[in-house]
Amino acid sequence: MSSHAASKQVIVVGSGLAGLSAAHAVLQLGQKVTLLEMMPKYGGNSIKASSGINGAPTRFQPLPDDLFYQDTVKSSGVIYQQSDANRKAEREALMKTLVDNSQSAIYWLTDRFGVDLAAVAQLGGHSRPRTHRGTGKLPPGFAIVSQLWKDLETKYSQQATLRTHCRVTRLLTDSKGVVGVEFEDLESDSKLETLYGPVVFAVGGFAGDTTGLITKYRPDLVNFPSTNTARPQSIGLLEDIGGQLMDMESIQVHPSGFVSPEEPLSRDKFLAAELLRGEGGILLDSKGKRFVNEMLRRDQVTDAIFKYCDEEKNDDIRQWKVWLVLDEGSTNKIGSNIGFYQFKKLLAKKKISDFADEIPNIKESIKKYAQEVSDKKDTDFGRTAFGGWTLKPEEVTDDTEIIAGRITPVLHFTMGGVKINPEAQFLNTENQPIKGIWGAGEITSGVHSSNRLGGSSLLECVVFGRIAGSHAASSLKSHF
Ligand SMILES: Cc1cc2nc3c(=O)[nH]c(=O)nc-3n(C[C@H](O)[C@H](O)[C@H](O)COP(=O)(O)OP(=O)(O)OC[C@H]3O[C@@H](n4cnc5c(N)ncnc54)[C@H](O)[C@@H]3O)c2cc1C
Repeated sequence: MSSHAASKQVIVVGSGLAGLSAAHAVLQLGQKVTLLEMMPKYGGNSIKASSGINGAPTRFQPLPDDLFYQDTVKSSGVIYQQSDANRKAEREALMKTLVDNSQSAIYWLTDRFGVDLAAVAQLGGHSRPRTHRGTGKLPPGFAIVSQLWKDLETKYSQQATLRTHCRVTRLLTDSKGVVGVEFEDLESDSKLETLYGPVVFAVGGFAGDTTGLITKYRPDLVNFPSTNTARPQSIGLLEDIGGQLMDMESIQVHPSGFVSPEEPLSRDKFLAAELLRGEGGILLDSKGKRFVNEMLRRDQVTDAIFKYCDEEKNDDIRQWKVWLVLDEGSTNKIGSNIGFYQFKKLLAKKKISDFADEIPNIKESIKKYAQEVSDKKDTDFGRTAFGGWTLKPEEVTDDTEIIAGRITPVLHFTMGGVKINPEAQFLNTENQPIKGIWGAGEITSGVHSSNRLGGSSLLECVVFGRIAGSHAASSLKSHF
């Protein structure tokens, strides 16, 4: 018997939502799991998620909803449309898996882990409200991730081994496929260790890697700021074992990262969550005029910013002059997140007259928009969902208080990565599954094509994380 033949654990790499979902799926099948995370703290980019997680139909939605698949296909854009018939079918199978498992993903989080996801918003590109978050103070990424982690620590302390500061440096293979990992313990002089078992690889995306993979695949985006943690990338480990890269140029430039008045030129931006527009926020250009239907998809809103808004002149960072403006009704609907943004000075609450120097025409623009909301008719841009906006045109005076902050487009999400199939298997360059390893989350490719809908990343983590974990656990019997 070889040293790894007796392995009786699944190895999960990465402690974001994809890795945590996979780990729980393994435990649900009664198998053991070891989770390796290179950072000192768990959660990856997942813990920052601030708008919510999609699912349909669910008991939390205010309207019946059978349009999620249609919206997902529409959002996937030219890469999907221009794919040949085989590739199209592969992408459709992934989107179908995502949507068909979305209800059970939401109920898994609410009913099994007790996560509050009872508030539902409609984000850009969605034709129904279907992005779930909690009704209390916790942002959705933090609420979900911390609950899943806490359960691993408290309820499964015998079956789950959780190791932070451990960076996987190599995937170990034999003639059958992947059989384990080599990793360095960053707390003990980077000592190399090996561990054997089937692997779930959930190491996240590369939107924070502006000097590495962004330079390689999208040099035009190099000077853009990002919402994502800059960290060494691990996709090369999959390339080393023959993983097929796909859609690497497909990088989501989110329309709204906050430009902090205290550090306007910082490359690290806080995301102005899509929820802020979904629940009523509008966008104004540097002349104080609306220029887009704020409820369009992210790529469309970003393109409108490039087309209609002024770019700042700066050699080190590319940013545009755009304002996000909310009335009191919208901020009430959004809830406690607003307080956080105000605390960070990213949004300011002031009288309309106090914004007039920075945002010319602001009073006229707000009055016009308030009239359009009252009439339920946005003549210029065709917005039809107005979120929590309640301000009436006759209430708009110099003294009316509003909330506003500066935003600019930011690198946010990578649709590309290593191709998977609906069983969450990574595919090699011959389009065949690589044995002994499964993948989920932002490292994978094929689910979103040209554009990801807001709320569908947390969802893919749960859906494909659970599939990956289940298959890896089942394979323990046959492969190891
Ligand atoms: C500010 C912000 C807000 C967002 N809001 C939303 C939202 O509201 N809804 C939504 O659906 N999506 C949202 N997203 C996107 C979403 O959060 C992420 O795409 C998704 O959570 C990625 O999850 P993941 O598990 O694939 O990766 P991550 O959560 O990034 O986790 C990957 C983990 O793997 C670890 N790792 C990497 N390499 C190694 C290695 N070699 N060895 C060991 N560990 C390794 C990393 O340190 C990291 O902890 C948001 C993203 C950001 C940045």
